[in-house]
Amino acid sequence: MEALKMYINGKWEDGHDKGTINVNNPSTGETMTTIPRGKEDDVDRAVKAAKDTFRSAEWRRVKPFERGRILFGVAAQIKENRDELARLESMDVGKPLTQGYADIDAAIRYFEFYGGAADKVMGDTIPIEDGLIDYVIREPIGVTAHIVPWNYPIQILSRSVAAAIAMGNTVVVKSAEDTPLTATKIAEYFDQTSLPKGVFNHVTGYGYEAGATLSSHPLINHLTFTGSVGTGTAVANAATSNVVPVTLELGGKSPNIVFSDCDIDKAVEGVVKAIIQNAGQTCSAGSRLLIEESFKETFLDKLVDRFKTLSVGPALDDHDLGPILNQKQFDRIMEFISLAERESTVLTGGRRVTYEHYENACYLEPTVIDNLPLDSKAAQEEIFGPVLSVFTFKDEEEAIEMANSTDYGLVTGIWTRDINKAHLLMSRIDSGQVFINNYGAGGGVQMPFGGYKKSGFGREKGWIALYNYTQVKNVAIKFD
Ligand code: NAD
Repeated sequence: MEALKMYINGKWEDGHDKGTINVNNPSTGETMTTIPRGKEDDVDRAVKAAKDTFRSAEWRRVKPFERGRILFGVAAQIKENRDELARLESMDVGKPLTQGYADIDAAIRYFEFYGGAADKVMGDTIPIEDGLIDYVIREPIGVTAHIVPWNYPIQILSRSVAAAIAMGNTVVVKSAEDTPLTATKIAEYFDQTSLPKGVFNHVTGYGYEAGATLSSHPLINHLTFTGSVGTGTAVANAATSNVVPVTLELGGKSPNIVFSDCDIDKAVEGVVKAIIQNAGQTCSAGSRLLIEESFKETFLDKLVDRFKTLSVGPALDDHDLGPILNQKQFDRIMEFISLAERESTVLTGGRRVTYEHYENACYLEPTVIDNLPLDSKAAQEEIFGPVLSVFTFKDEEEAIEMANSTDYGLVTGIWTRDINKAHLLMSRIDSGQVFINNYGAGGGVQMPFGGYKKSGFGREKGWIALYNYTQVKNVAIKFD
């Protein structure tokens, strides 16, 4: 694969100091290509280009419906290149090809959804008194920075970039150093549109260099960050010192709460899919199973049997699980597993899977852990791998307490045929999304997504996310 370039102010560029970073294929452990190691100068050029374009008459003249058409054009390009993009995403992240396709389809939907919204976000008129007209308009906010993680690169880029451009902002994206392939393709598609140069910019590089410079840049006006709590806190601090609003999408320790009156087959399948998607490297992974005590044995028998049928292998071969991103992530997961082995019971999995010729790739058996103390590190922190921890509860009160017992609050699944019980739990659980008798609702481009507690701040996806990228101006006109 050819060396990749950044896209700054309508030009393809290497970094100012020509440094590069290797991009590896998690399925083989081999290097596929390189990206420029973007640093301060590069980020500065991108932000200044975005600022100049934001202030230009050329960008102001692009009507809202025209911005929408441009986003539809990008959606059409993604559709046209769906097969290529699905393979790239799958190779880059190590996700099974079917999941690569699902991510590309979601990206298409984001560009279509926000393209359609571009001319539909309206203001208000406010009754004050006779002789005074008061109205509120929503204006774009300016240069928006988008820092993207490695686990869902094209989806996460698309959801915030499409909303920001729909509302008339300009954009600087920093893709994750491990997974820049599809972001580069999106830059190509923007390059082929009639958007003024400088509306969409893509910089590559390490988080502590390019990312840190972008989040603290004095010319950005909004920051959207998706990633870990630690980095999210650092970027929020940087933005705060410039008085810049942030939208933070951070991690999770999401529970699936299973009652004995559920449809057992559907619940088993839902719980399994919730933890194995992208080999558990998903912010909304259902990493905790809370099960009604009296139902535990019956449910776990089926669940463990199902886990034993799951296949693990190279992303393009489309197994149930692909590899873990890299050795660093793998070691981190294994630390949690060895800790859990000391203080609890591993019911299935927990070992490395080796592939001939791919000795550097990190494959892991999907794992179920039982009897973890509720306050242990493995029960409280995000493992970010295919590891499900099981806990039991006696009644609804205990289920609610357990569900709320971590610092996170991103997603919750509830499995029961009793809709009253489901509603009671829903209303008492700290969680940005609640799924009843399903988990994830097929991605849900239209549904607001974000966290309670340390899972984040603000919402992405859906109509509500458009407001992240606007600011409100009130206008009062006196007439006699
Ligand atoms: P990360 O925080 O290490 O990195 C995320 C991005 O931030 C990357 O582009 C990285 O280069 C950049 N970055 C790193 N250090 C930085 C710094 N000092 N300043 C500015 N930018 C910096 O996270 P990750 O390992 O890429 O992703 C995994 C984490 O992301 C998990 O915790 C997961 O739960 C979370 N996540 C959340 C969501 C969500 O929508 N809630 C979605 C996906 C991932």
